[in-house]
Amino acid sequence: MKNSFENPILDNLECLLCINCEDSDWRQSAEFVLCGKCQHKYVISRSGKVLTVENHIMEENWEKVSEGFNLLKGNEHPIRINKIGGPRISQLRKILDVQGLSVNLGSGQDNYAGFLNLDLGDYSPVHVIADFTKIPLVDESVQLVACNSVLEHIYDYEKVVREITRITKRGGFLYLCVPLMSIRHHKYDYHRWTSAGLKKLVEENFTILESGACRGVAYSMISYIDALLTHKVKNTVALWVCHRIWRILSFPLLLIRDDSDEEYQALANTIYVLAKKN
Ligand SMILES: [Zn+2]
Repeated sequence: MKNSFENPILDNLECLLCINCEDSDWRQSAEFVLCGKCQHKYVISRSGKVLTVENHIMEENWEKVSEGFNLLKGNEHPIRINKIGGPRISQLRKILDVQGLSVNLGSGQDNYAGFLNLDLGDYSPVHVIADFTKIPLVDESVQLVACNSVLEHIYDYEKVVREITRITKRGGFLYLCVPLMSIRHHKYDYHRWTSAGLKKLVEENFTILESGACRGVAYSMISYIDALLTHKVKNTVALWVCHRIWRILSFPLLLIRDDSDEEYQALANTIYVLAKKN
């Protein structure tokens, strides 16, 4: 029986892994998929999501727990106009000529064509709600994994990297973006990486094709000073004036871009690697 919601995993059940017995022999009904080997059940929610964990995060809870750690809230515009470097996730399948299963790990509210969206949060475009330290996908079933600004939110990130390695096909691709010079932006925000640390994280099993800065120096510097002002200046009018002065002084920073330069990357807000599985 087919669920009315278009969830790509329901058309690719051979890629869905039972996290209980590691088998992949499913029986499907409208309300759940059932493991033929151990009878473990994944519920299909009313909105068509496959729930592989019980304790997922509701969207509003995730936003709520970031209170007090979002010093940029309501003041994001000047850094938004600073363009993002490197390939865009929405273009990756085309750039890499990927036809096979493509997964956006920690997709949040993003929904790019051709991607299966996995997240621990119950965001509307998510197809599979999952814990990334135990990804419910079969070994070497994925041709492209995109993971953008997710690892810093998972304390056991090394487990996640091992899981990404396990599910990626030989010759498949990984786009991984992580923060370097980024302010803490959530209650659950644990880690930062240098470009050397990011490369070390993947190069045991992947060959790095490309690396660079996503959000550059301007993003780092403007957001740090913006956030420091928000933290220190409690008078609303004074804060507005301070932000406007900093807007003018910081404008030249927006003109500096040198994304693929290793020295520049050392100053960047977020950095990425694009790599191919060995
Ligand atoms: Zn099972």
